[in-house]
Amino acid sequence: MKPGDSEFENLDCSAVLADIYLLLDNECDAGARARLESHVNGCPSCLEHYGVQQQLKALISRKCGGEHAPEGLRERLRVEIRRTVTVRQTTYRVDPE
Ligand SMILES: [Zn+2]
Repeated sequence: MKPGDSEFENLDCSAVLADIYLLLDNECDAGARARLESHVNGCPSCLEHYGVQQQLKALISRKCGGEHAPEGLRERLRVEIRRTVTVRQTTYRVDPE
Protein backbone atom coordinates (compact mmCIF):
# COMPACT_ATOMS: atom_id res chain seq x y z
CA MET A 1 0.00 0.00 0.00
CA LYS A 2 1.41 3.36 -1.00
CA PRO A 3 1.35 6.39 1.29
CA GLY A 4 -1.50 8.71 0.35
CA ASP A 5 -3.84 5.90 -0.67
CA SER A 6 -5.82 6.07 2.53
CA GLU A 7 -7.98 8.93 1.29
CA PHE A 8 -9.01 6.91 -1.75
CA GLU A 9 -9.98 4.00 0.43
CA ASN A 10 -12.19 6.17 2.57
CA LEU A 11 -13.99 7.44 -0.51
CA ASP A 12 -16.63 4.98 -1.65
CA CYS A 13 -17.11 4.90 -5.43
CA SER A 14 -20.90 5.15 -5.21
CA ALA A 15 -20.56 8.20 -2.98
CA VAL A 16 -18.13 9.67 -5.48
CA LEU A 17 -20.55 9.16 -8.35
CA ALA A 18 -23.34 10.81 -6.39
CA ASP A 19 -21.09 13.76 -5.59
CA ILE A 20 -20.12 14.14 -9.23
CA TYR A 21 -23.57 15.58 -9.90
CA LEU A 22 -22.85 18.28 -7.35
CA LEU A 23 -19.38 18.81 -8.77
CA LEU A 24 -20.72 19.30 -12.29
CA ASP A 25 -23.27 21.79 -11.00
CA ASN A 26 -20.50 23.61 -9.13
CA GLU A 27 -22.32 23.02 -5.89
CA CYS A 28 -19.25 21.60 -4.17
CA ASP A 29 -16.77 23.60 -2.22
CA ALA A 30 -13.16 23.64 -3.44
CA GLY A 31 -12.02 21.01 -0.95
CA ALA A 32 -14.72 18.52 -1.92
CA ARG A 33 -14.01 19.17 -5.58
CA ALA A 34 -10.28 18.49 -5.16
CA ARG A 35 -11.00 15.31 -3.19
CA LEU A 36 -13.43 14.02 -5.83
CA GLU A 37 -11.14 14.87 -8.72
CA SER A 38 -8.17 13.13 -7.11
CA HIS A 39 -10.29 10.01 -6.54
CA VAL A 40 -11.60 10.09 -10.11
CA ASN A 41 -8.08 10.46 -11.48
CA GLY A 42 -6.99 7.34 -9.59
CA CYS A 43 -10.09 5.24 -10.21
CA PRO A 44 -10.72 4.05 -13.81
CA SER A 45 -14.40 3.25 -13.34
CA CYS A 46 -15.15 6.65 -11.81
CA LEU A 47 -13.02 8.35 -14.45
CA GLU A 48 -15.04 6.72 -17.19
CA HIS A 49 -18.29 7.72 -15.53
CA TYR A 50 -17.05 11.26 -14.93
CA GLY A 51 -16.22 11.55 -18.64
CA VAL A 52 -19.76 10.53 -19.52
CA GLN A 53 -21.12 13.12 -17.12
CA GLN A 54 -19.04 15.89 -18.65
CA GLN A 55 -20.26 15.00 -22.13
CA LEU A 56 -23.84 15.01 -20.91
CA LYS A 57 -23.35 18.37 -19.28
CA ALA A 58 -21.91 19.80 -22.49
CA LEU A 59 -24.77 18.36 -24.49
CA ILE A 60 -27.32 19.86 -22.14
CA SER A 61 -25.81 23.34 -22.29
CA ARG A 62 -25.63 23.18 -26.08
CA LYS A 63 -29.19 22.00 -26.45
CA CYS A 64 -30.69 24.35 -23.94
CA GLY A 65 -28.41 27.29 -24.61
CA GLY A 66 -28.00 27.92 -20.92
CA GLU A 67 -26.24 26.69 -17.83
CA HIS A 68 -29.27 25.00 -16.34
CA ALA A 69 -31.11 22.11 -17.90
CA PRO A 70 -34.86 21.84 -17.46
CA GLU A 71 -35.67 19.85 -14.34
CA GLY A 72 -37.52 17.15 -16.32
CA LEU A 73 -34.60 16.50 -18.65
CA ARG A 74 -32.14 16.35 -15.80
CA GLU A 75 -34.29 13.88 -13.93
CA ARG A 76 -34.62 11.66 -17.00
CA LEU A 77 -30.86 11.65 -17.59
CA ARG A 78 -30.27 10.89 -13.95
CA VAL A 79 -32.49 7.81 -14.15
CA GLU A 80 -30.81 6.64 -17.35
CA ILE A 81 -27.34 7.05 -15.84
CA ARG A 82 -28.33 5.24 -12.67
CA ARG A 83 -29.63 2.32 -14.72
CA THR A 84 -26.37 2.19 -16.71
CA VAL A 85 -24.29 2.21 -13.55
CA THR A 86 -26.38 -0.55 -11.97
CA VAL A 87 -26.01 -2.76 -15.05
CA ARG A 88 -22.27 -2.19 -15.10
CA GLN A 89 -21.87 -2.98 -11.39
CA THR A 90 -23.89 -6.20 -11.75
CA THR A 91 -21.79 -7.28 -14.72
CA TYR A 92 -18.65 -6.49 -12.79
CA ARG A 93 -19.73 -8.67 -9.89
CA VAL A 94 -20.48 -11.63 -12.15
CA ASP A 95 -17.19 -11.35 -14.04
CA PRO A 96 -14.47 -9.41 -12.20
CA GLU A 97 -12.25 -9.43 -15.28
ZN1 LIG B 1 -14.07 5.21 -7.78
